[in-house]
Amino acid sequence: MTDNHYRRLPPVNDVLAACPPDAPREPMLAAVREELARLRAAVAQGEAMPLSATDVAGRAYARLQRATQPKLVSVINATGIVLHTNLGRAPMSHDAAQAAKRAAEGYLNLEMSLDTGKRSSRQDAVREWLCRLTGAEAATAVNNNAAATVIALRAICLGKEVVLSRGQLIEIGGSFRIPEIMAVSGAILREVGTTNRTRVSDYERAIGPNTGALLRIHPSNYRIGGFTESVAIADLVALGRKHGVPVMDDIGSGALLDFARFGFRDEPSARDSVTAGADLVWFSGDKLLGGPQAGILVGKKEFIGRIEKDPLMRAFRLDKMTLAALEATLRIYLDSERALREVPLLRMLSIPLNELRHRAEQLAVSMNTIEGVSAVAVADEAFVGGGSLPEEKMPTWVVEVTARVAIPGGSRGSPPFSPEVPLTTVSENVLAARLRRGMPAVVTRTRSGKVVFDVRTLFDHQFDATVGALARAASEPQE
Ligand SMILES: *Cc1c(COP(=O)(O)O)cnc(C)c1O
Repeated sequence: MTDNHYRRLPPVNDVLAACPPDAPREPMLAAVREELARLRAAVAQGEAMPLSATDVAGRAYARLQRATQPKLVSVINATGIVLHTNLGRAPMSHDAAQAAKRAAEGYLNLEMSLDTGKRSSRQDAVREWLCRLTGAEAATAVNNNAAATVIALRAICLGKEVVLSRGQLIEIGGSFRIPEIMAVSGAILREVGTTNRTRVSDYERAIGPNTGALLRIHPSNYRIGGFTESVAIADLVALGRKHGVPVMDDIGSGALLDFARFGFRDEPSARDSVTAGADLVWFSGDKLLGGPQAGILVGKKEFIGRIEKDPLMRAFRLDKMTLAALEATLRIYLDSERALREVPLLRMLSIPLNELRHRAEQLAVSMNTIEGVSAVAVADEAFVGGGSLPEEKMPTWVVEVTARVAIPGGSRGSPPFSPEVPLTTVSENVLAARLRRGMPAVVTRTRSGKVVFDVRTLFDHQFDATVGALARAASEPQE
């Protein structure tokens, strides 16, 4: 009896013939076999009827497409968080993206001097630009700022004490905690002061024959408020000079411009730190610099030289695409006006409030044309930095959205939004989840019954797609 059912399922070849001709052969065959096996089992259990070759092909093709979806997809960032760690931090400038693409697709003089035909250093691509932008005499770049911290400590302070304030014993995330990082680098952590107050005299008392460096770490992802005292980099430099001890500065975000213009008062700039006399300064490439993921080290020739000779340099070095993108980003900064126009992060931070208002109002108008959606543009205050600028709130404009849908089966046959049809509000979490899982994916904020779209981080070309995504999310059937 069941044998007959099996026979009524189409043979593999018939199903394959009914599959789209451009489907990849081997994976398509595997998907067809899998679909037939599943159907055979279901038919044997009496749970399904045999299908035609075309129907099986359709199911197998859908199965194949689901199984080969990319894991990484573009996301529309409607959170207003300009540096969203989980969404890839800083979006890169057009020039940087083009440079990375060219480097990816072809050959380049990564480690060859085209003048001499001899081998050169890949760091030549960024060294000069970094020196010009920060005033340092030497520079080099590694994979990220965590790597910069490890290699600096190892190359300069292996087996030696690094004096650091207890107020700066940071955890950047997960396994990146300063005491552990010191341990893997081979430097010895010498804590001084207290969590809220550390003075020059605390550092001075800790200096001894085995001191390798005085280190300052900018607390990028938290603030200590209230009764506090910390030592300015210039005072640390003076102390270091007095005792012949190098002074190192992890400034974190890597501001190349003065961020006070955006109202960020405490953001150290690389140039200020170099000017203050720090021997070695390091920072991220993809935070406030707005470039690719990288760790940038600038400072005295002697120290940069020791870092570049460290065996870890080979493990930490940048690849050609990142190096090309970093060079392009740095070249934009040679003209700070151009940087404000072309580095997306800087552009987003400098959008005037009235323009944000205009964008929010426009977006709300479009969203209100969607059945069941109610959208209102409102002034708001938002964190802009994710983990990188935790304290920095900026005034912004957002669109608050609620969506109401007809209750399924509520009153069949009548128009969906006539007064008799019972309506239910889609909860903000459900709507936000649908937006996240949609194509394109849209990530929003939520609060008290509303999904919140912050227009600061929406690119101009994403407005229509955002409205389309909301229309689909609002009309999805309720579970
Ligand atoms: C972000 C940060 C790091 C780590 O930088 P990554 O580029 O994320 O590796 C290290 N130190 C400070 C002070 C930071 O802010």
